[in-house]
Amino acid sequence: MGDGGLPVKAYALKNFAVPTSSSGGAFPAIAQCLHRQAGDGLVVCGAVFDGRFEVRHALRKFADGLEPFSGSKYVQSHVADAFKAIPPLLAKGVLVLFSGMPCQVAALKRLLEGKQVPADSLLTVDLVCHGTPRRDLWKAFLGLLRNRYGEDIRELHFRHKAGDPKRTGKPFIRLDNRRGIDRPPELETWMRWFYANRSLCRGCFSCPFRGDPAARPSDLTIGDFWGVAEFLPSFREVGDVSLVLSHTPRGDGVMDAIARSGGILLEECGRFLARDDFRAFNRHLFESTPEPPRYAAFWRDFETMPFGEFFQKHARLSRKAKIIQIPLQIATACGLRWKLLVWRFKLKRLVKGIFRKCRNTRNTQ
Ligand SMILES: Cc1cc2nc3c(=O)[nH]c(=O)nc-3n(C[C@H](O)[C@H](O)[C@H](O)COP(=O)(O)OP(=O)(O)OC[C@H]3O[C@@H](n4cnc5c(N)ncnc54)[C@H](O)[C@@H]3O)c2cc1C
Ligand code: SF4
Repeated sequence: MGDGGLPVKAYALKNFAVPTSSSGGAFPAIAQCLHRQAGDGLVVCGAVFDGRFEVRHALRKFADGLEPFSGSKYVQSHVADAFKAIPPLLAKGVLVLFSGMPCQVAALKRLLEGKQVPADSLLTVDLVCHGTPRRDLWKAFLGLLRNRYGEDIRELHFRHKAGDPKRTGKPFIRLDNRRGIDRPPELETWMRWFYANRSLCRGCFSCPFRGDPAARPSDLTIGDFWGVAEFLPSFREVGDVSLVLSHTPRGDGVMDAIARSGGILLEECGRFLARDDFRAFNRHLFESTPEPPRYAAFWRDFETMPFGEFFQKHARLSRKAKIIQIPLQIATACGLRWKLLVWRFKLKRLVKGIFRKCRNTRNTQ
């Protein structure tokens, strides 16, 4: 353990071999490493789009390829079928790599404990999680996409990198006639709802998997390493980078094997985890996502309005949101976006400290 109960083993990772990954490609690096150790018997379980673009957890042999797992799907995944398929595999000693949200990893572990299935051949990876959009909203949203683009959507990406791992991913749709639509406005709206926390499941606002990263239920945690260039100069100019935290000896073993295997830019970064600026950049590892104002009104409209009307109403940017965007856009253009976030974090902490001091002084008088 490091300072404040933080795990010592934390890494920045960039896997250039996988241009379809949303972040730095940590997940395929872990799967490839396990495959080198265990061979073709490895079974991988993660979130995929099904034929109707709903998101569900599926199991595949490593040899059948990792491509369907690639990319963040910003929708709550169906896990029931995967949870039925995993226990018999583990009972036979098959090596299973499971990736999902921390609550999904915790639920799988509870299920295995309840069924008394040994988890010796299970390696779990959870994602740093800001919250997940509700799947009923996504289902209605898919209807709207089909109305706009017809039934012939072939590919859908929330963070498409167009084959360039150094590019920041943007929403993208490919239609049957091979026509690609860069940044379709509907998917941009979906991402805006996600970042504004409006589309998230209510339970995500009181998520128990925040705070001490060492208390997470998995062997390894992966996420986006926001602000990495501020900490590790060798990761400047390489595009999105993964943050990997290891919580168990099994996780440590995987990371040691990745370090030995080469071909991946990897650097230990545990010393940064307690720093304020690291916490400001990567706050979803530590802090709960707040329920946004008008969250209840958003969902009331979803329940009561025809979806097209609901979408029109909530896709519009309010005047306040437009005004808030201006300093952010200026800071981004000047390369100061991250600095702005750190300043905001420090200011908030200072104000909270002053309030706490005033309250304590009043209580002791
Ligand atoms: C809803 C959501 C919220 C997130 N919030 C944050 C955040 O606040 N901060 C942060 O640093 N990172 C967050 N992430 C994680 C980040 O976006 C990347 O998914 C993660 O770093 C993996 O990237 P990669 O390049 O290693 O893997 P890739 O090769 O892109 O593989 C994607 C991996 O994510 C899993 N996955 C994708 N979608 C889902 C889903 N809906 N449910 C469960 N598992 C899924 C897949 O199974 C696969 O293992 C979030 C991801 C999602 C899906
Ligand atoms: S925020 Fe918490 S409860 Fe919500 S999906 Fe993520 S891990 Fe689960």
